[in-house]
Amino acid sequence: MGPTLKSMFEQTAAKFPNKEALVDARLGSRWTYRQWEEEANCLANALSDAGVTKGDKVSTVLYNTAEFAITLFACTKIGAIFNPVNFRLTSQEISFIIKDAKPKVVLFERATAPQLKEIANERTHINFWSIDEQQDVVLSRYYYDVLEGADRTRPDCEIDEDDYYAIMYTSGTTGVPKGVLHSHRDMIDQALLLAHTLNLTQHDRGLTVAPMFHCAELHCTFFPRVMVGATTVILHHFDAQEMIQITREEEISTLFAAPTMWNMILQEKFSKKDFNSLRTGLYGGAPMAPALTKRLHQALGVQLIQAYGMTEMGPAITVLLEDEQLSKAGSAGRALVNHEVRVVRTREEGPADPADICSSGELGEIIVRGPSMMPEYYNRSEETAEALYKGWYHSGDIGYFDEDGYLWVSDRVKDMIVSGGENIYSREVEDTLFDHPSVVDAAVVGEPDEMWGERVVAYVVKKGDVKPEELDEFCTSGERLARYKRPRRYEFVSELPRNASGKLQKFKLREQTERVTE
Ligand code: ATP
Repeated sequence: MGPTLKSMFEQTAAKFPNKEALVDARLGSRWTYRQWEEEANCLANALSDAGVTKGDKVSTVLYNTAEFAITLFACTKIGAIFNPVNFRLTSQEISFIIKDAKPKVVLFERATAPQLKEIANERTHINFWSIDEQQDVVLSRYYYDVLEGADRTRPDCEIDEDDYYAIMYTSGTTGVPKGVLHSHRDMIDQALLLAHTLNLTQHDRGLTVAPMFHCAELHCTFFPRVMVGATTVILHHFDAQEMIQITREEEISTLFAAPTMWNMILQEKFSKKDFNSLRTGLYGGAPMAPALTKRLHQALGVQLIQAYGMTEMGPAITVLLEDEQLSKAGSAGRALVNHEVRVVRTREEGPADPADICSSGELGEIIVRGPSMMPEYYNRSEETAEALYKGWYHSGDIGYFDEDGYLWVSDRVKDMIVSGGENIYSREVEDTLFDHPSVVDAAVVGEPDEMWGERVVAYVVKKGDVKPEELDEFCTSGERLARYKRPRRYEFVSELPRNASGKLQKFKLREQTERVTE
């Protein structure tokens, strides 16, 4: 028996019963920790009444809502495995996850009902509960009707620290989504580390604006806030203007946002005063160009903290702290306490050997281990054995350590471009493009080239009337970029394809280049 999310939540509720715990920013509804716990008890009992027992799965296809937060802790109370599903996925993708996870109950809302109709028609033995009063999905019940008859007392269920708390599907940016299992203990370790790194206290007011189904928001900021008894203000989904307004009105002191969200804030009208209360801003989940870090620092007057990691690791492994932001802009920072990071040489066949360590400055695959590492993928022993080869998680990211011991993430193995036998790492080219004042967003991919095998094509969101020749001149002048790395073709677009957690979907860009070159 050790600490669990259940014991953490109950301890906080006992310590701060009357403290504001949850705020639904749009509806204006507010819960104290006592009210939150009571509602979680009630839902836990309702889930039990519906036949959910320890080890069963409960899925949510919800945007950021208080019901999401209530369901999560209801699951921990009866040992059900929580399965938060990306609300942006298509009905086919959601069906894949539901068939893989096999939940007994699925919670959804009006906005996600269309994506669930198909699977609900097919799997009529699953209970579908809607948090909105509508009956779009076959045989679904209204969440608040379900709660009405349920017992409000604390369910009696023993949970162990090694029990699984959640199954989270990877975003599938590099293949089929895999269910990552995390135990209660993994999350306690991650929450402790992040609460410490972000210096959180019960006086903090955090904004949940990045998707809650994603571990960056849930594990790096939401759980640490519950651990210390801070307040969480929930915004249904990201809207730059609304986020600025809520930050000001709710006196938000801490929040996480993906780099693309910060970038969108920069395009809005705001004053530094809007962010007066903001003490720590966290970003991560995708690379942030050094130029963007500097623009943000200037515009907001807030120095942010960066986290690098992945779902399999809980997710955070390294952080770049406030005072390192400018001197090491673009780096992913250093390992968190108890975490180990290595850069190792890749092999033609099979996973890289953890003992084959690269020297400083040498590029290789980033491998990691630490207390919040997933024990396994759900029902995928082969993929687990490969990913956790010799006890290290093989990230599929390429990077290097600089001479000061800072980690730099250069690319994903699968996104690397090979031109004329030379490797080109996307980030170097993208970061260079970002340095141009007219570039708002940029991504590069490889396209087939008869002579060189592949050549670089750049997708750019621009402001003003910048021409490809000007960007080409910019990239190659002043030794910014070796000539073979420069984009040979530019496509100006209004936005880049990104998933809900802000990751570039390069496969979509590659599909686009294939269509052009066909
Ligand atoms: P899939 O495995 O299905 O492709 P995914 O890897 O996109 O899913 P996540 O765990 O959400 O799922 O993403 C982890 C990846 O995100 C990392 O391996 C890395 O490539 C990228 N990443 C995360 N944080 C950072 C960061 N701070 N800087 C650069 N890249 C980052």
